Amino acid sequence: MLPFTYSRASSADDAIAAVQKQQGAKFLGGGTNLVDLMKMGVEQPSALVEITRLPFADIEERAGGVRIGAMARNSAVANHPLIRERYPVLAQALLSGASPQIRNAATVGGNLLQRTRCFYFYDPSYRECNKRVPGSGCAAIQGYNRIHAVLGASDHCVATHPSDMAVGLAALDAKISVRGPQGERTIPFAEFYRLPGDTPHLETDLKAGEMITAIDLPAAAPGRSQYLKVRDRNSYAFALVSAAAVLNVDADRRILDARIALGGVAPKPWRIPAAEQALRGKPATDSTFSEAAEILVQGAKALRYNGFKVELARRTTVRALSSAAAG
Ligand code: SF4
Repeated sequence: MLPFTYSRASSADDAIAAVQKQQGAKFLGGGTNLVDLMKMGVEQPSALVEITRLPFADIEERAGGVRIGAMARNSAVANHPLIRERYPVLAQALLSGASPQIRNAATVGGNLLQRTRCFYFYDPSYRECNKRVPGSGCAAIQGYNRIHAVLGASDHCVATHPSDMAVGLAALDAKISVRGPQGERTIPFAEFYRLPGDTPHLETDLKAGEMITAIDLPAAAPGRSQYLKVRDRNSYAFALVSAAAVLNVDADRRILDARIALGGVAPKPWRIPAAEQALRGKPATDSTFSEAAEILVQGAKALRYNGFKVELARRTTVRALSSAAAG
């Protein structure tokens, strides 16, 4: 690990100024991903500015919805009555991720910004990784790519985004509030993550010096929801495929509204409006859900070892929607 300086910010403006002042400086939240990456030599910040004591940990009602401070711990959000009662899909997604110890330490702001778990990204002995070293190539494309993306990837990077929480937030139409040198702004969730294209090292819409201050959930949509995660073992494992489904079905079992987002298959939570449109007004049956699943995986491109994810994504979509419909 290379030497770095450490400071604890007492205000958001101080933190932003401190990160702006020193090239290579980073904000430090719970550290559950960043510190691991520093130990592996993947991240080499020149300075860490700890922000966990900034006043951004509240979870409160706001404008008919709920505002979650970026420093709120994953476990606090998952167990909060407002989240459990109004946004159960988010509580389910959070509780399916990591371990209780990690959820107690990790912040939701950090959860959004966690890095891919691509094996080659994590191991600097592999020289080819465009995300770690821009322009160096991608070892995963010809390598062991079982956990990699089948949607939204590029010839420069096929990594997936690892967050369960982000998949739930995508289905809930959350917004991300950020603060930076130019002031505050709000980013719709669908615009927060970038696809890799030829710049996979640029992962979000955040600009230099900007920090996440809150996640805003709109008023809870009527209906039921389900987060379904498929993985190699039943705990402490990342999703091979996951699905967050929010479904409103009338008394005749006709779908009034639907939202579906997939995880584990793409560089960001995968949501296709046409798939949701295909559900509206239709009967809540497996056949309807299959039509939506087919739209969600349109354009999927399998690598040597991850072809199974395409069919798994179809089946996970159908099962998550049918579980949500059944309540
Ligand atoms: Fe790096 Fe992305 Fe390729 Fe993994 S998939 S080796 S993160 S460029």
